[in-house]
Amino acid sequence: MINRLKILYELQMIDDQLDELEELRGDLPHAVEELQMQIKSLEEETEKKEIKRKESLEKREENEEEIEKLKANQKKFKAQLYQVRNNKEYDALTKEIDNSEVQINKLEAENNALADLSKSLANEIEEIAPKLKDLKEELKIKEAELKEIIKSNEKEETKLKEKRNQVVEQTKKPDYAAYMRIRKAKRGKAVVTIRRSACSGCHNIVPSQRQLEIRRNNKLFFCEYCGRILVSAEVAGLAE
Ligand SMILES: [Zn+2]
Repeated sequence: MINRLKILYELQMIDDQLDELEELRGDLPHAVEELQMQIKSLEEETEKKEIKRKESLEKREENEEEIEKLKANQKKFKAQLYQVRNNKEYDALTKEIDNSEVQINKLEAENNALADLSKSLANEIEEIAPKLKDLKEELKIKEAELKEIIKSNEKEETKLKEKRNQVVEQTKKPDYAAYMRIRKAKRGKAVVTIRRSACSGCHNIVPSQRQLEIRRNNKLFFCEYCGRILVSAEVAGLAE
């Protein structure tokens, strides 16, 4: 039984060291993720604006062609005006000419609006560009920093992980499940010792009868306040 407790304490010590390595990375992993998200969103925004701009350009070209056609027709109608034989024909032609005029004006107004839109989209895209560049620069720096930290601890981390695997293999499945559950709930510490008659996890006093039982090292005891696994100083000493 004492071996079972010792293994749990060993696991805790290894995880403590792995947590320390993780802490060295500090805010960097989060910062990198955050920057990647910002960049992605700006890139998407730029892309959307570029598509909109392209569409407006295409529409303008379409309108331009239509205007050319209308103007050609108008010219034709105007020429025909000299050959009319009666009022009815004259009226019909002037009506056609007026209609094309209205349409040409409409399309030209639309094109002016589209040109304005295109211009403001171009401005917006231009405004995003330096922001995007800065963010990418920042990301590059942060990624390099993070990579450096990871690299400098790589060996230690690999060694610890290997050791951890070995210890996990020796741990009883229900013990490991309990350990992981508590570790997750308590953000790290799942196995603790008694220090000055108190649980070193939550600092609540452990009743002396319970302390006595724990010192026998023949059962898994949980702190009645925080739920952590309590082991004796002897177990901790063995593991260290
Ligand atoms: Zn406790």
